[in-house]
Amino acid sequence: MSKPVRVRFAPSPTGPLHIGGVRTALFNYLFAKKHNGVFYLRVEDTDQTRFVPGAEAYIMEALEWLGIAPDETVGKNEKFGPYRQSDRKELYKQYADQLIESGWAYYAFDTAEKLDSLRKTAELEGKTFIYNHSVRETLDNSLTVSREEVEKRIANGETFVVRFKTPINEILNLNDIIRGEVKFDTNLLDDKVLFKSDGMPTYHLANIVDDHLMETSHVIRGEEWLPSMPLHVLLYKAFGWDAPEFAHLPLILKPVGNGKLSKRDGDKMGFPVFPLEWKTNETTSMGYRENGFFPEAVVNFLALLGWNDGTEQEIFTLEELVQKFDLNRVNKSGAKFDPEKNKWFNRQYLMKKNDEELANNFIKILKDNRIDYSNLNVAKIVGAVKKDAYFVSDLTELSNYFFQEPTTYDEKAAKNWKEDTPDLMKQLITVLEGITDFTSVTIENTVKEWLTANEIGMGKVMQPFRLSLVGALKGPHLFDIVEILGKVESIKRIEKAIATL
Ligand code: GLU
Repeated sequence: MSKPVRVRFAPSPTGPLHIGGVRTALFNYLFAKKHNGVFYLRVEDTDQTRFVPGAEAYIMEALEWLGIAPDETVGKNEKFGPYRQSDRKELYKQYADQLIESGWAYYAFDTAEKLDSLRKTAELEGKTFIYNHSVRETLDNSLTVSREEVEKRIANGETFVVRFKTPINEILNLNDIIRGEVKFDTNLLDDKVLFKSDGMPTYHLANIVDDHLMETSHVIRGEEWLPSMPLHVLLYKAFGWDAPEFAHLPLILKPVGNGKLSKRDGDKMGFPVFPLEWKTNETTSMGYRENGFFPEAVVNFLALLGWNDGTEQEIFTLEELVQKFDLNRVNKSGAKFDPEKNKWFNRQYLMKKNDEELANNFIKILKDNRIDYSNLNVAKIVGAVKKDAYFVSDLTELSNYFFQEPTTYDEKAAKNWKEDTPDLMKQLITVLEGITDFTSVTIENTVKEWLTANEIGMGKVMQPFRLSLVGALKGPHLFDIVEILGKVESIKRIEKAIATL
């Protein structure tokens, strides 16, 4: 690779960052780290009409939470700063002027009304109006109006835009790292607006100027930008700059049916598609963080949306992803978003965490719910029940009987409470009372020895025993429960069951 790797994530702060945007950021991050390069974030906020307060801070917070913060951005290592396009406003005009001077762009004065009526007329004829080579010389622009006239109209404060003069009759054979060769016919492109008389560049101009000035080596972005690639490549040519390499990432598709996963799908179908919760006056959209996902799990499943390392491996740490990531292994076709698989990933990470760490998170939930855990070893409880949890919050339901003795008993299970059960339970109490080393293994051995010595069937004791402690025939290994509850509490629960059942 010739140029040092510098890649960017260039979101427009028009709302919360959708999962597709997060994946774009992640792939840029992985690519940068893999090649010992720089990952920077540039805020593309030139379209003031779409600006949403709070969105920029949201994006930064989301990337921090995921552990993929940029090396350079607004307020951080501003080597090529400013990193917010509205703060670079003054810079773009000279580039628009340069293109006009060199004949690659022109002023256009056509009013919105005029363009609208042209659109309507075309529609009536079953056509689409496109501002391009076929009509530009019939419209109100500097290709048809004299230079003096143009200068006068601009001096008089008339509104204008600067449009790109797309060359005609060219077939562009462009290379995309993921898609290979992509062909574009320049006759099918429109003359995009580059600059407006309010002094603001459009996305296209600002994006190219900044990618150049910030020494971007590769443009890695979503497939929805592929149609802009010919214009962008032509802009580099017009400026006489080397274009970066391009890689357009596959779409993320809905879990069922066809089409692109939309921002609304998540709340509609009950899963998050945003990294963090996003609140407006009207709505709240779910976030992965608030829904109890671990950032490592989110990073892991996003990495596999459109990429794999060629093996069956699914669980990757961020470091492993950095090592293995390869743009050549990114798929062309869309990646289906599978919310169940997301949960599966979270469970894998939950299982890998140590019980102390999980217990610390779980204790927060216990405190919020005013659940008394003072006599219990929460880490042991977590260790006993976590295999059935997807999220830390699932532990509440999975472990509730540890914190509260049964108030009811599962009816079906209670049918196994026979006439001789109370007597057996009383004997069991005596056995438990005699155990000094009150640990799962010792309790199990002692109880089993007692059963064998007295020729008592396992089922006769184990089920009523579990029912007494849990209130149902569920939960982890019975003797783990006994150990965690402790001798006094276990006996108390058996006594209660004898009295109740
Ligand atoms: N600002 C564009 C966006 O919102 C950036 C596209 C690009 O990466 O060139 O996605």
